[in-house]
Amino acid sequence: MEKHSINIVFAGHVDHGKSTLIGRLLYDTGCLPEEKIKEIEKSSRSVGKEMEFAFVMDHLKEERSKGITIDTAQTFFKTKNKKFVIIDVPGHKEFLKNMITGSTLGQTALVLVDAEESVRDQTKRHCYLLNTLGLNKIFVVINKMDLVNYSEKRFNKVKDEITDYLNKLNIEILGVIPVSAKLGDNIVNLSDKMPWYKGESLLDIMDRFKVEEKEFYNLCLPVQDVYDFVADKNVFVGRIEGGTLKKGSKVIVLPERKEVTINKILKYGEENLTSAGVGECIGFLPEGNVELKRGNIIVDNTNYNITRKFKANIFWLSKYPGGINEKYTLKCSTQEMDCEIEKIYKRFDPASMEIVEEEAEKISGTEIAEILLKTEKDVVVNKFSNMPHLGRFVLEKDNNIVAGGVII
Ligand code: GDP
Repeated sequence: MEKHSINIVFAGHVDHGKSTLIGRLLYDTGCLPEEKIKEIEKSSRSVGKEMEFAFVMDHLKEERSKGITIDTAQTFFKTKNKKFVIIDVPGHKEFLKNMITGSTLGQTALVLVDAEESVRDQTKRHCYLLNTLGLNKIFVVINKMDLVNYSEKRFNKVKDEITDYLNKLNIEILGVIPVSAKLGDNIVNLSDKMPWYKGESLLDIMDRFKVEEKEFYNLCLPVQDVYDFVADKNVFVGRIEGGTLKKGSKVIVLPERKEVTINKILKYGEENLTSAGVGECIGFLPEGNVELKRGNIIVDNTNYNITRKFKANIFWLSKYPGGINEKYTLKCSTQEMDCEIEKIYKRFDPASMEIVEEEAEKISGTEIAEILLKTEKDVVVNKFSNMPHLGRFVLEKDNNIVAGGVII
């Protein structure tokens, strides 16, 4: 078993079988505890079924909402050599939101297409978004093959449709596998119901997946909060999103470009660390009397932009239209400030990939737009591909998320 696990996002139109496939994968790879299996069998019997795999996800979600399993890293399945952690994104809106705001980013994705229904607009929108967020190598699963009599002809038709679209996006396809998530065909082992399929089972294909390690060496530590419980000194806390924070090192506080020295690094239960790395939530004390606040970004390099204007692709999420010259709240990492959309260069329908309008004034529905955003204060940003954490943001109005975006 390889040391590092791989984060995988499941995408696809609602009802095409995401939950069922996830349930099936967890069950068939022995990654569900015995007592969970019993509970799910019980719920399944109560609706007259032997085993409803979609219930696996319901059970896990219920646990999460009760706060039992806060750690999403709990939901994983194993292939021969690898461990895949599932990043669960339930509805379409949640999908968009999680992809933009989620703390854990996907490293690969699996897109499901129902063999009967074939590709839907939502399937395409998800693929488009995956690609924008840098997930450009994906697995494609054509599900519910049992409902189309395991027909090779039908499989090829659906396969052509999805591959045409993915090719347009320049997404690399790691495999197109005909399966029945419900009955388990071609998931772990090859099924004798589809002798025409000459490829490998889904798990065998996934087992060969290699993550292209993209390490973020440059320090990026957004200040989340300020605590004043240590004597007369303020402690600044945050999660390290890139690089390493070292005791005694000189760092730069953005957007002010102040230089400070790190005097002390603290962690729950550990008083005096010499360094801390990516993913660690820490507190630190700078030398001297330095006032920092939530929204400051601590860096050790010049690989960032401080600006009041940037170009971005946004995904509209609100049921109300929005547009230029309207006020929004920008949230990017821990930074928060007023902003407005100065320009909408073009808005387009991600399903058809067609430009709906250029130099537009409004955006609505589930459209995507290329915009110029103007902020009221200096904001620290980076291209998504350079530093994902400073490259994605949300726009809010009256405390509701109206759009998610990626800086280009
Ligand atoms: P999701 O919305 O994508 O998570 O879809 P679900 O996993 O909830 O599945 C939607 C419906 O399709 C449920 O009734 C499942 O039992 C059914 N389903 C999922 N996979 C299959 C399959 O391979 N074959 C058949 N016949 N039904 C399936």
